[in-house]
Amino acid sequence: MILPNLPRALVAAGMATLSLTMTAAAAQAREPQAALEAALARAPDTEPAKNIILFIGDGMGVSTVTAMRILAGQRAGVDGASYDLAFDTMPYGGLVRTYSVDGLVTDSANGASAITTGHRTINGGIGVDGRARRGVCDTALNVPTLAQRAKRELGKAVGVVSTAAITDATPAAFYAHAPDRNWQSDADMPAAAREAGCVDIAAQLVMAEDDLRPDIALGGGLTFFRTEAEGGRRKDGQDLPALWSARPDSAFVTDRDSLNAAVAAGRDVLGLFAEMHIPHEVNRPTVAPQTPTLEEMTRAAITRLASEPQGYVLLIEAAHIDKAHHAGLLNASLTEGVELSKAVAVAQDLTDPADTLIIVTADHSHGLVLNGGGRGDDVLGLIKGPTGAPRLAEDGKPLPILTYATGPGGPKADEGRPTLEGVDVTAIDHIRQAGARLGSAAHTGEDVPAYADGPGAYLVTGSMDQPYLFQVMRHALRLPVEAP
Ligand SMILES: [Zn+2]
Repeated sequence: MILPNLPRALVAAGMATLSLTMTAAAAQAREPQAALEAALARAPDTEPAKNIILFIGDGMGVSTVTAMRILAGQRAGVDGASYDLAFDTMPYGGLVRTYSVDGLVTDSANGASAITTGHRTINGGIGVDGRARRGVCDTALNVPTLAQRAKRELGKAVGVVSTAAITDATPAAFYAHAPDRNWQSDADMPAAAREAGCVDIAAQLVMAEDDLRPDIALGGGLTFFRTEAEGGRRKDGQDLPALWSARPDSAFVTDRDSLNAAVAAGRDVLGLFAEMHIPHEVNRPTVAPQTPTLEEMTRAAITRLASEPQGYVLLIEAAHIDKAHHAGLLNASLTEGVELSKAVAVAQDLTDPADTLIIVTADHSHGLVLNGGGRGDDVLGLIKGPTGAPRLAEDGKPLPILTYATGPGGPKADEGRPTLEGVDVTAIDHIRQAGARLGSAAHTGEDVPAYADGPGAYLVTGSMDQPYLFQVMRHALRLPVEAP
C-alpha cells in the first residue's frame, strides 16, 4: 500500500493532518474490502484437476512464512509486513497438524509421507505405514504414493524437484519406500535389509518400472547414484546415471545448460547438480553458478511436463528453509523461502488455475520467534529503542528481531547470551541466537500452514490433519480410495 505523497509544506503546517489520516484510512480499508469482494465472488472449483503441483517448504512454519514475507518485501524495497508472497494471494488455506506415529514433533520423512501417501508413520519412515519399525525391512508395509498411483492408474507424468539431495526424505516420499530415510545408497543400508529385499532410495528412483519412474527428477545427491570407483558412495557397482540414460529418450544432466537442452528435447530427465545438497541460495551464485536455482528447476520441470496429455503431478521442495534453520543460518533459510515464493510464482505463471491444483505447505515447523521490531527495521537485524540504538533486554544485551527456540546459536554452559556488540547479525554466516543450545536446531510441533488454488483447492480449509492433504489431492485427481 502506498501512502499519498502530500506536499511537505502542508504537512509541516499541520493542515493536512486530518486529510492524511482519512486518506490513509481509506487506503487501508480498500485492500481488505477488495479481498472480501473477491471472496464473495468466489465459487468452489469442484472439477477434477488435470495437474497437481505440491510445494513443500521444508520446516516452513507460520513464523517462518511471516519472516520470509517481511524479508521479501524489504528486499523488493517496500513494506515487508504488508507484502504478499506468491502464495499469500491464494484463495484457500488452513492449518495442518504434523505429529508422527511416535512423536509430538515430526521429521521430514513422516511429514512428507503423510502428505504424499495419506499414511502417518514413524519418524524416519518413508512411504511405509504406521506399523513400520525404523531400520527393519518389511516391504509388506509399503504404501503407494500419490505420484505412483497417478502414473500407474491415470497415466499421469511425474516430476520431483528439490534443493536437497533428490534422495533426501521429502523428495523420496514422492517415489520411494524405506523404513529408514538414511538408506539413500546401498552403502547406507544394513546387509540384513538388503537381504530381506529392501532397495536403497537412489536405486528405487532409477530402477523403478516404466509405469512408476518419475519423468523428471531434479536436485542434488549425485554421491548416492555413483559407484565408489567414480567417487560416489555405491558399493554395488551400479552406475545409476548410466542406467537412467540407457532407457529410451532419457537424459542425465548435471548443469543448467544441459538441463534446458534435455527439457527442450522432451527427454525424461535425471538432473543431479551437487554431490549432496545444492548450495544455499545465498552462496550458490558464487560457488555453483552453473547450478540451476529452485525457480529455474521449477520452470524446467513444468515446461517438460506441460505437454503430457494426461497431465502430471509434481513435487517441489525448498529444502534449505529447514537445513539452514537447523544450522542457525537465518539469512540463508529466509532467502530459500524467498526462492520458494519465486518458484510458486513461476508455477502460477505457467499453469492454468482451471486445470491445475497448486498446494503450498510444510512438512513441519521450526522454532523461529519474531520478538519485536519497527515496521521499517531490517528483519534480520536487532530490535531498536527510541534513539535508534539497539534496545537492551534485562540482561543488558541487544535482542534480535528474530531468534530461535533452539540451535547452535544458544548459550554455552555457564554463559549467558552473546552480547552481539559489534556483530553483523544480518550476515549470511551469522549463527542466530537461540534460547537453548543444540548442535542442530530442533523441529517444532505446532501446526503448519497450507495454501491452495485451483480445482479442489476449496477442500484445503480449517484445521486439517496432514494425511488429509493426500485425500484432497487423491480426490482432485479422482483416484479411487484404494489402489487396485
Ligand atoms: Zn529438518
